[in-house]
Amino acid sequence: MNAPLIDPFARAITYLRVSVTDRCDFRCVYCMSENMQFLPKKELLTLEELDRMCSTFVDLGVKKLRITGGEPLVRRDIMTFFQSMSRHLDSGALEELTLTTNGSQLARFAQPLYDAGVRRVNISLDTLDEEKFVRVTRWGRLAQVLKGIDAAQAAGLKVKINAVALKDFNEDELITMTQWCASRDIALTWIEVMPMGDLGNEDRVGQYWSLNDLRHQLSQHYTLTELSERTGGPARYLRLEETGQKIGFITPLTHNFCESCNRVRLTCTGELYLCLGQEDMADLRAPLRNNPKDNVPLQEAIHQAIGLKPKGHDFDYSRQKADGQVTRHMSHTGG
Ligand code: SAM
Ligand code: SF4
Repeated sequence: MNAPLIDPFARAITYLRVSVTDRCDFRCVYCMSENMQFLPKKELLTLEELDRMCSTFVDLGVKKLRITGGEPLVRRDIMTFFQSMSRHLDSGALEELTLTTNGSQLARFAQPLYDAGVRRVNISLDTLDEEKFVRVTRWGRLAQVLKGIDAAQAAGLKVKINAVALKDFNEDELITMTQWCASRDIALTWIEVMPMGDLGNEDRVGQYWSLNDLRHQLSQHYTLTELSERTGGPARYLRLEETGQKIGFITPLTHNFCESCNRVRLTCTGELYLCLGQEDMADLRAPLRNNPKDNVPLQEAIHQAIGLKPKGHDFDYSRQKADGQVTRHMSHTGG
């Protein structure tokens, strides 16, 4: 049962993303509705259950763990989870423990995260304009996030900014954000908006700003060199020759990256999603909770689930509607 996780397309699964909560202190327009209904507490895996779950994946060969949400740093006592996971870094079983955060709580948590062995952090930031920041996050305050970024860098964490490319919203900040990141030695990755969750009043096709267009706009200001490096995920990278900066592009809608996919996603309720763009999932909470002293049923359930990992996703905007759309929100599966 301790055999490594290999899916039906011979891809080794070595990367687990874990959403530790569906809650958040922001309400970003492309991610959540304003009046979200969150899950009752008993549905959530406890921190001890999350530990057992993640440790089982590490036993099965997972080398990289990314903690996400919702906003992972609003989960009560989450630092005890990070501290406990650091034992797998110490043993060498885990190569990297990292997180994706909106940055709002980093002023408090950057140093304890570093002390727990975290070395890199992805921070989501779509604009450097205070008023626009309120518009896109509904509840967020830019100054608090900027303080969080300062704290992360002061603690020694390598920061990467993830920005969602939004038409008529941050197009005009392409160069200012690039320059701001260069001046602070921060890597920048642009994400194409994905058709997640119910569309509600938000017209996600209207929000769509193609990264091909973004790249073209960048090429008017910088000399771009394509980099061959891949991470097993949907990101591709360019270097800006004038600044030496690396710019990432996550384009799930315009490129097929699935052939090298090495990852699966665990929700805070213990559902394992095999692909961000498909509904295929397996419940791991039952085998975990029903067998508190025996890990074999959980290992079996994980192996069985990996055996169902689909070849790829079906997102497509080409017909001017969000085809291949999945109904769950990003805050459920984690970004
Ligand atoms: N709260 C944390 C944060 O914002 O970084 C972690 C969870 S959030 C769901 C993870 C990432 O998903 C963020 O970078 C966010 O911008 C991105 N995201 C959310 N909804 C999206 C969508 N519809 N399309 C593309 N990216 C999305
Ligand atoms: Fe919260 Fe992150 Fe979703 Fe924004 S993108 S609402 S910060 S979970």
